[in-house]
Amino acid sequence: MSTQHTPARSSLPVAGEDHARLTVDLSALADNWRAMARRSGAARAAAVLKADAYGIGLEPAARTFHQAGARDFFVATPAEGAALRAILPEVRIYVLSGMWAGSERLFFEFDLVPVIASEEQLVVFMAAIAEGGDLPCVLHVDTGMSRLGLRVEDALALADDPARPASFSPIMLLSHLACADDPGHILNRQQLQRFRSVVSAYDDIDASLANSAGIFLGEDYHFTLTRPGISLYGGAAVNGVANPMKPVVTAEARILQVREAKAGESVSYGATAVVSRDTRIAVAAIGYADGYMRSLSGSGVPVRQANIPGAQGVVHGHAVPVIGRVTMDLTHFDVTDLPAGSVRAGDFIELFGRSMPVSDVARAGGTIDYELLTSLGRRYERRYELAKK
Ligand SMILES: *Cc1c(COP(=O)(O)O)cnc(C)c1O
Repeated sequence: MSTQHTPARSSLPVAGEDHARLTVDLSALADNWRAMARRSGAARAAAVLKADAYGIGLEPAARTFHQAGARDFFVATPAEGAALRAILPEVRIYVLSGMWAGSERLFFEFDLVPVIASEEQLVVFMAAIAEGGDLPCVLHVDTGMSRLGLRVEDALALADDPARPASFSPIMLLSHLACADDPGHILNRQQLQRFRSVVSAYDDIDASLANSAGIFLGEDYHFTLTRPGISLYGGAAVNGVANPMKPVVTAEARILQVREAKAGESVSYGATAVVSRDTRIAVAAIGYADGYMRSLSGSGVPVRQANIPGAQGVVHGHAVPVIGRVTMDLTHFDVTDLPAGSVRAGDFIELFGRSMPVSDVARAGGTIDYELLTSLGRRYERRYELAKK
């Protein structure tokens, strides 16, 4: 096709401007929380903020959800809870990993609610309240993940245990669904039934089962508190259906140069992409050190053998494929099909976001949007935007 020579451009971006940027749409974030709160029906909707709010930034996310009306927040660790407490002094903060010996002090100091995950943690918690005084807790029951939580029979036995100390009165029961993203999976109903049996053994207690995908399973799964995470950040909660959430995070990288590879020349490490036509290549300042994973490569990585195409970016409204291997700091995109001269050094290419669903890019890399978002790294310039009214 293009035989015309495009001079390689080497002009660097203006000093001080970053090579990669993340734009976080806080209005979409708030809209997504309200949408999930509505879908939660009579249940209250919490917001899950673990892992720096799925990589988008704890503080802006926490403030946005709080303003939208959220009063219950889940984090993974006491350290995340302490960080959140500094931002939101008044809300309820649940720590999903629970309480272990040595971490007790943080729960009292920052008013965190441990989600008790095992018999051992129960012992630690009982000792902690005997010494430190009252502290609410949540009891985690494992109904089908073999991850955290008491076994169903142990949770049932505890409910009826005459020796159960009066001081031990969990404010809520919690369980987590293994297959909620697959609505037809039989384990969903089984977990629901097991969880119900435990809830009915405790008198008059709050209960929480549904993550994002669980909320989409319907009212039966909502109980009193829902725990949406990925859906708030624009991710696809349920497999095989259109994602109704608004995109929140847009990642873009600057194109450092546009150059030509002649038919027969190779691109990137391993020479795994040999172009069959004269090819115009945009070299973008993004790589696996930024969480733009090597598995997103156009060729030369094991996941490509599964016949999934590599990732695509979007430049000036056109989807363009990654060509060759993604490297630590740089990725090649094939822009041959765009008019010559339309893509220039200094332009930005969208990696995912408004024009390219984050879940499509994750899938190209053989993973899920959760992993892509929480791996984004530190080199992005982060911008937080509110829609103009
Ligand atoms: C991460 C997590 C959630 C949120 O799940 P999403 O699928 O992101 O909505 C809810 N509950 C627990 C226990 C979790 O670990």
